[in-house]
Amino acid sequence: MIRVTVWNEFLHEKTDEKVKSIYPNGIHKAIAEFLGKEEDMEVKTITLDDENCGITDELLENTDVMIWWGHMRHWEVPDEIAMKVKEAVLRGMGMIFLHSAHHSKPFKLLMGTTCNLGWRESDDKERLWVIDHNHPIMEGITDRFFELEGEETYMEPFGIPDPDKLLLVGWYNGGEVFRSGCIWHRENGKVFYFQPGHETYPTFYNENVQKIIKNAVRWAKPVYRIPELICPWMPRIEE
Ligand code: ZN
Repeated sequence: MIRVTVWNEFLHEKTDEKVKSIYPNGIHKAIAEFLGKEEDMEVKTITLDDENCGITDELLENTDVMIWWGHMRHWEVPDEIAMKVKEAVLRGMGMIFLHSAHHSKPFKLLMGTTCNLGWRESDDKERLWVIDHNHPIMEGITDRFFELEGEETYMEPFGIPDPDKLLLVGWYNGGEVFRSGCIWHRENGKVFYFQPGHETYPTFYNENVQKIIKNAVRWAKPVYRIPELICPWMPRIEE
């Protein structure tokens, strides 16, 4: 079983009528619902308003892959919690950052850069071009591209370190392009950034988006998790 934890700041779904009508129980529950149908996944959800943002050592120990959606309240996640998440990734936990989580503290810690980008909310259509059909995260996406009728426009330059592999490029009918699917290895952990998912669109009900998130969970799960981050003195092996 892959133990998945979906983290959501859970603000817009409570304060904005449009968002509430799309995700009445929150984005985290919508994601948990489609992942929970997979026989090899066991899904839990936590939100920013839970005690300690829902994140404890025990939770991290028992999470194989964490999914993160945040937007307006990134700063409310305490630095020490963000550091714990980063260290869990360095030890082997898989991590998927969705949409505006590009500015979340754990993502910025793992990237080491600003993670800035250009943005605009103008109801643009997005066309997501598949760059590597053979990567496990793209399994089942067989066309050259797929489209989302409406998304927030994100645009280059995106202030990230070069990804280990670029899987998707988003093009918007306003003219912009963006690196919409990127992977990195961070020590023992695998990280996937996936751009679609603005709260005013039903993006997380899209079949291709769901397929990619499911594939990403299976790709990011740890093969081996190191027990602690240490830099030990070691004796000679041969005398
Ligand atoms: Zn957005």
